[in-house]
Amino acid sequence: MARTYKPVDFLKLDETLSKDSQVLIKELRRVLHRLNARELFSESFKNNRFPIEIIGEFAKMDLFGMTLPARYGGIDASYENYGAACRELEAVDSGLRSFVSVQNSLVMFPIYNCGSEEQKLEYLPRLAKPGLENGMIGCFGLTEPNHGSDPGSMETTARKIKKGESIPGGKETAPEDGYIVNGIKRWITNAAIADLAVIWAKLEDDEGRVNGFILLKEDSGLSRVEMTNKLSLCASSTGELYMDNVFIPENRRMPKTRGLKSALQCLNKARFGIAWGGVGVAMDCFDEARQYAESRLQFSRPLSHNQLIQDSLVEMYVNITRNQAYVVRLAQLMDSGEIEHAHISMGKLACLDDALKAAITARDMLGANGITLDYSPIRHIANLQSVITYEGTRNMHKLILGEYLTGYGSFRG
Ligand SMILES: Cc1cc2nc3c(=O)[nH]c(=O)nc-3n(C[C@H](O)[C@H](O)[C@H](O)COP(=O)(O)OP(=O)(O)OC[C@H]3O[C@@H](n4cnc5c(N)ncnc54)[C@H](O)[C@@H]3O)c2cc1C
Repeated sequence: MARTYKPVDFLKLDETLSKDSQVLIKELRRVLHRLNARELFSESFKNNRFPIEIIGEFAKMDLFGMTLPARYGGIDASYENYGAACRELEAVDSGLRSFVSVQNSLVMFPIYNCGSEEQKLEYLPRLAKPGLENGMIGCFGLTEPNHGSDPGSMETTARKIKKGESIPGGKETAPEDGYIVNGIKRWITNAAIADLAVIWAKLEDDEGRVNGFILLKEDSGLSRVEMTNKLSLCASSTGELYMDNVFIPENRRMPKTRGLKSALQCLNKARFGIAWGGVGVAMDCFDEARQYAESRLQFSRPLSHNQLIQDSLVEMYVNITRNQAYVVRLAQLMDSGEIEHAHISMGKLACLDDALKAAITARDMLGANGITLDYSPIRHIANLQSVITYEGTRNMHKLILGEYLTGYGSFRG
């Protein structure tokens, strides 16, 4: 029988959140329950597919671009609202939270932050409504086959082309001034299902500085390939973007990009949501383990009556409570504009480490049943392998914190 999720909140921290956040949490739990989201994602994980058909439900709840002004399709929501949404979504599956993170933090935020007014008005309202009429799905292309943790070494290039000049590799000429983009982006969430891609390339005519461009799925020379052999984040679409002399008109370069820093700013927003999401994963694993331990009899009594089982539950509970408090404080700092990137790195590091510990502990408490997709912990364990890797690996966040503490950046040795 499907489990009814009973989330824990020992310190009543949710009661300290704004009314908006409390309403959003309640509404999201109701919608996720109505959609049978846990069963749906378990099935989708097994079938290696992202359940794209439910995205419109979250668009109706204004979850996309939620922190942006109404003029751009947003609802001026706080980062606390956004974090709370990420927690509830990732308690179901990291694939669901990933979709929302990418659309909000990695696609809409860079267009909002680096785009022209025309670009904002043209794309943001549509990106706020994926899965609904005229809506758009986006993706964010930074990582390449040979450059992940060190995106500054990217090989994707852009060069200026004047109207009427020949586009290399084809018979056509440039219809207006623009750019020719070449390169490969790999490990891109939603690459194969996106209508629009924000990609980062070194602009030869700008001393090789990283610039952001908006590509559309119909652009000639752009091909997208779904990656199908993953054993993690299976209920999420991950793919590659191949750019072979893609012509991008001038009005699709994001004019306010300030080098690689602009791409990294987006990652910070996404990492904030991931820290909240990690708390959601741990809460879901705890709930699964506790409900199981209360109903499963061994040696003629519930598992939960054993001291060693209680020890495991208590350890999970302490870590969850500590991290719930941590992310609430992160949201306060984010909303007051006092946040530093090191705060967010610690959040991603600590919340995901504890989420993985909780998932492994819960899996163990479920015995053999714990290795099946009938229960969530094994799926969360698999998903966390991706979540710990993307948006800066564990090591990268340790290096960021190491630099913060010592003043010495040891990324290169
Ligand atoms: C499911 C999934 C979805 C993703 N979605 C996106 C997306 O939408 N857009 C996007 O642009 N990217 C995306 N990524 C890519 C992700 O951001 C990269 O995988 C990540 O940055 C790590 O890069 P890498 O895989 O090349 O590992 P590498 O950089 O090769 O690192 C390999 C290992 O070496 C360690 N390492 C590297 N350098 C150092 C050092 N100086 N000191 C110590 N250790 C080091 C790393 O911590 C890691 O453990 C996604 C990845 C996954 C798995």
